[in-house]
Amino acid sequence: MKIPEEMSKAIEEAQSVVLFTHVHPDGDALGSLLGFAAILEGMQKKVFCYLEEPVPHLYNFLPGRDRVNTTLDELFSFVEESEKVIAISLDCGDSRRLGKHETRLLEVKPFLVIDHHQSHKDFGDYRWVDPRKSSTGEMVFEIAQNLQAPISYEAAYNLYVAISTDTGSFCYEATSPRTLRIAAELVELGVQPDEVSGKIYNNYTSERIRLMEMVLGTLRLYKKGKVAMIHVTQDMFAKSKARPEDIEGFVDFPRSIRGVKVAAFVKENKDSVISVSLRAKGSCDVAELARVFNGGGHRNAAGFRFADKTLEQVQQLVVDQLIPLV
Ligand code: 5GP
Ligand code: MN
Repeated sequence: MKIPEEMSKAIEEAQSVVLFTHVHPDGDALGSLLGFAAILEGMQKKVFCYLEEPVPHLYNFLPGRDRVNTTLDELFSFVEESEKVIAISLDCGDSRRLGKHETRLLEVKPFLVIDHHQSHKDFGDYRWVDPRKSSTGEMVFEIAQNLQAPISYEAAYNLYVAISTDTGSFCYEATSPRTLRIAAELVELGVQPDEVSGKIYNNYTSERIRLMEMVLGTLRLYKKGKVAMIHVTQDMFAKSKARPEDIEGFVDFPRSIRGVKVAAFVKENKDSVISVSLRAKGSCDVAELARVFNGGGHRNAAGFRFADKTLEQVQQLVVDQLIPLV
């Protein structure tokens, strides 16, 4: 699918842009946000990057992270003071994932949506949604090229983080020849893959490893080893002194077990919401499985959540209702 004409036009004509992404942002969310911000500033536009929470410490190496503003009042002052303003939501498959101020954010018009989630639920005024794209970072690169906008080193670095994290370091199915060509162009612009992957993967705290030890200790296998489940509790966070974002990537361990088709990671969050991450290997579609509990995501990475259940209750639901479908 090509970039919709009216979207390119809206971006070209805008003088000011507010950028949004999903809550609990990952590498693709932050990389496409900061990468696009740098590109739009290079096009002489004023940019406001809004996030509900500060940038997670795992990503505090991203160039331009100081652009992020978490103050809603300042966001709306920016919008009021701006002429020809547009909003762009990046990597958000569902308007609910814009966070607790969803309704207010959606008031900024026109509202553009750029996303690659298979389970995307339409929102906003102009949309470019393509589930075959590896990452939102890849889509932002395509837009920059389409508009003949220069890509600075800062933009290239952020887009490389977006693309390399969302493809699992260029391993997942959606990694296309075009993805690799774009990555090559970003490397030509000065990005050093060894430096970036060192920041992403060799930059963990010892608290994270302590927590990992506890979480891996919860591993259980179901359906003759086709399903693997792990969990984390608030108690484990307290004992390990790890931070909420330190669990990123844990679900890849149960997934890596030979014979496992689906890995589930059940998480007890601080706000007592229980969220579940699903990962698939091979042909299983976990976005479809997540729909059983009103969740969504991609074919091989999806999730859902409950606000009114305990960890044990959610695990039981997974065992009773989801695992039989694998
Ligand atoms: P993660 O497991 O990394 O949190 O999420 C993997 C994918 O599943 C993400 O692309 C995300 O969009 C999707 N996802 C995770 N949790 C939810 C959820 O509660 N609802 C929906 N609709 N999608 C989710
Ligand atoms: Mn993404």
